[in-house]
Amino acid sequence: MEDCIFCKIINKEISSEILYEDERSIVIKDIDPKAPVHLLIIPKKHIESINQLEDKDKDLISEMLIIAKGIAKDQGISENGYRLVINTGKNAGQTVDHLHLHLLGGEKLPWA
Ligand code: AMP
Ligand code: ZN
Repeated sequence: MEDCIFCKIINKEISSEILYEDERSIVIKDIDPKAPVHLLIIPKKHIESINQLEDKDKDLISEMLIIAKGIAKDQGISENGYRLVINTGKNAGQTVDHLHLHLLGGEKLPWA
């Protein structure tokens, strides 16, 4: 947790481009965007991945989806569409072990 880059962003120990923040979540621009719009919805609670999600986190995870919906609208990508991604573990390429939801859009996205 001490070495967690997203906890440091949440605690403002390192800077990031913050688009939205409330008591439980923060939304930042991804530092290495994979699409014209690439944002990260991050819960302030340090949860390593979906694998560590508990029943008591169900409000938090649904809030993340509602926030994503609103941010997509603000970004003007709701109508044309966007993708929400949660990478979990090494086979999915998770590189930051603090749960986060990618919001990708702004162009036609490739699907492997
Ligand atoms: P994942 O590979 O699903 O774990 O996603 C981690 C994401 O965090 C990647 O898309 C990185 O580009 C992004 N990232 C890593 N460090 C930072 C940072 N300091 N600020 C913003 N995004 C970051
Ligand atoms: Zn963390």
